[in-house]
Amino acid sequence: MATSKSSGGSLRRKGTPSLSPMLMATTLLQWAALNNYTDIAYYVIEHGGNVNAVDGSQQTALHWAAVRGATAAADVLLQNGARLEAADLNGYRAVHIAAQYGQTGFLYHIMAKHGADFDASDTDGRSPLHWSAYKGFVDTVRLLLFKDAYQGRQDKDGCTPLHWAALRGNAEACTMLLHAGTKKELLVKNRSGFTPAQLASDNGHQRVAYMLSNATRVRGNIFEENICSRKMGKIGYAPILLFIIMILIVLFINSVLAAPNFPKVTAMVGLWSLSGVSLAFGSLYMLYRCSSKDPGYIKPNSGGSATRAGGSEDPLSNIDIDNSTIWTGNWSQLCPTCKIIRPVRSKHCPTCKHCVEQFDHHCPWISNCVGKKNKWDFFIFVCLGTLTAFIGASITIHRMWTASPLLSSSGSWIHQMISEHPGAVAFLVMDSILLNGLIVLTVAQASQIARNITTNELANAVRYSYLRGPEGRFRNPYNHGCQKNCTDFLIRGYSNDDEIAWPSLQQATP
Ligand SMILES: [Zn+2]
Repeated sequence: MATSKSSGGSLRRKGTPSLSPMLMATTLLQWAALNNYTDIAYYVIEHGGNVNAVDGSQQTALHWAAVRGATAAADVLLQNGARLEAADLNGYRAVHIAAQYGQTGFLYHIMAKHGADFDASDTDGRSPLHWSAYKGFVDTVRLLLFKDAYQGRQDKDGCTPLHWAALRGNAEACTMLLHAGTKKELLVKNRSGFTPAQLASDNGHQRVAYMLSNATRVRGNIFEENICSRKMGKIGYAPILLFIIMILIVLFINSVLAAPNFPKVTAMVGLWSLSGVSLAFGSLYMLYRCSSKDPGYIKPNSGGSATRAGGSEDPLSNIDIDNSTIWTGNWSQLCPTCKIIRPVRSKHCPTCKHCVEQFDHHCPWISNCVGKKNKWDFFIFVCLGTLTAFIGASITIHRMWTASPLLSSSGSWIHQMISEHPGAVAFLVMDSILLNGLIVLTVAQASQIARNITTNELANAVRYSYLRGPEGRFRNPYNHGCQKNCTDFLIRGYSNDDEIAWPSLQQATP
């Protein structure tokens, strides 16, 4: 599969002195379109140039404009009678060429302003979605899915866009098609009998193959009208965490404080134990808060820059993409699933099926996303949890240590502890495992808060153009310095979203 155009090589071969004036006009118009020279295009058209003249592969000047995304030239051509749906020898229309070259802005322009058919098929039955998925132009895939391009279309080989993305191992395009699609596309077999997962595996894209077969398995559970498993997916591990915390509290009171074979509780130990148990209940309350709270779901008609396709209204139609001050053509802000233009730092959570503002991560242990509106609660929860687990472990070790002189001298200390105080040892083991996890989480969260960056941004930095400086290196525009980041977070409950001015966002516009 190769695109037919190679920067106008065929044209150059024809560029001999024996050219007829007609052919020269065609040549000139196509070069003007390719390079977005509107004045030249006007001049040629005014002097009798045919806007629909074709080259050797039956491509018109509009096809050439699509190669480099020359929207102004396309406007001139279309306003002067160019055929929008003109097809070349391969059946490629301007929409196909734009998709093949990842010209998302151009594609959107001819779709929105001139009504181009973005679901058109070429001679082999491939739509622009097939091409962008194959080429791995995720922004183009995103735009087409946002506009509800048909995902189930099979080309002459029986391949869907997902087959093509899988064939080339385009992980991000596959993920996007998965989120916006259904189980059906995962199970479609091409003419050779391969599903997208098998195609990825056969071509050595093991990571993509694993992702696709995993999605097939999970969707098998979720989509099989199995209400029970669907509910289980939503509930997550939060009940298990609640159960573990309750067991720990009971074990601590029963086997550490009130166990008859431990020495009597002193006033100091009693005081620490009381604060430990109070903190444990405090953590339980915070667990309830961060798992039940709205993490910052972006509602279609909420404020900010989130706008939506409510019924027939298209949010993109309200935006002048060339001059918009609120939206700089960051196509990653389009959610093909929720059909909204979301704020920059948000992300779609496939588990919660919502876009979440300042998305941090989906935490199965609280059965909720961590985002702008519950990050403070989450941070307090992990801090309280760490403190509680630390106090619990310290008191237990202290109790065991002071109890050791009462034990018989035979056998090792640990062996005696296990046989004499099994409950306290069980508590200590469980508490230590929890403490380790909580320390890692607290340190990670604290360092991210200090830098005003989310877990998602750290993990996927290469995918976000707003996290790249002018030289293409990582740079966080939301980092206002440790002190301001921390005070903002602790006082307001979320970090500051105002960007430090820098030029790279302008260059993100395709
Ligand atoms: Zn979404």
